[in-house]
Amino acid sequence: MVKAEAVHKHFGRLEVLKGIDLEVAPGEVMCVLGPSGSGKSTFLRCVNHLEKIDAGRLWVNGHLMGYRQKGDRLYELRDREVSEQRREIGMVFQRFNLFPHMTAMENVCEAPVHVRRRSKAEARERGAALLERVGLSDKTDSYPSQLSGGQQQRVAIARALAMEPKLMLFDEPTSALDPELVGEVLEVMKQLALDGMTMIVVTHEIGFAREVGDTLVFLDGGVVVEKGTPEEVISNPRNRRTQDFLSRVL
Ligand code: ADP
Ligand code: MG
Repeated sequence: MVKAEAVHKHFGRLEVLKGIDLEVAPGEVMCVLGPSGSGKSTFLRCVNHLEKIDAGRLWVNGHLMGYRQKGDRLYELRDREVSEQRREIGMVFQRFNLFPHMTAMENVCEAPVHVRRRSKAEARERGAALLERVGLSDKTDSYPSQLSGGQQQRVAIARALAMEPKLMLFDEPTSALDPELVGEVLEVMKQLALDGMTMIVVTHEIGFAREVGDTLVFLDGGVVVEKGTPEEVISNPRNRRTQDFLSRVL
């Protein structure tokens, strides 16, 4: 579903990703851990085309991102074609980024109606099912300001799912939440994983990584320094930096 081959990214003279090699199989949940500044968000943003990579290759769902292949030749895609590729990818950020002037239902229906050109009735029907899936059937007409952080984040997940993505990216989805609201968001993510969604989850929730993750990757200084099952990485980290990091978060 995702394949990264020697992905490099720099901002000016700052080399942020120094050759990332990763593969995520369909239905796999990959959790990504690593110290602040190690390039976790940048990597997700590259997968989602919010950043353009400088070198290497990225495939998502069989597409070489940013390119179309014709015979042996590669053609760089136009912006419009890039946004078509991006539609297959849902992303949830640390900050919920809901439209403040729209209800939960309107937030969820926005993209299907305006991007996918669904009818309003069809979008609302699907929207209702999605809000039910994240446990918010009773909040469809609430505005973000009337919802807790955990509820807002669940709306954000429903909104991402409304585009019927094949891959979901989560960038520290619970880091901005009060501790008592973390569980309800992780529970929704766990259900999504059980339903077979392919997910890359940047998180420091070790419990979630252990229970839900199929693989765990540890990023440090723009390279993958550790990769394995959560059990392997957590109980037997080979790398010194991983050991230090884990001893601080466990
Ligand atoms: P993480 O998510 O692991 O904390 P990031 O991917 O956000 O790390 O950032 C990695 C490094 O790249 C940091 O040093 C950050 O300051 C830098 N960085 C990220 N985005 C930009 C940008 N748009 N311009 C310049 N530097 C950036
Ligand atoms: Mg980050």
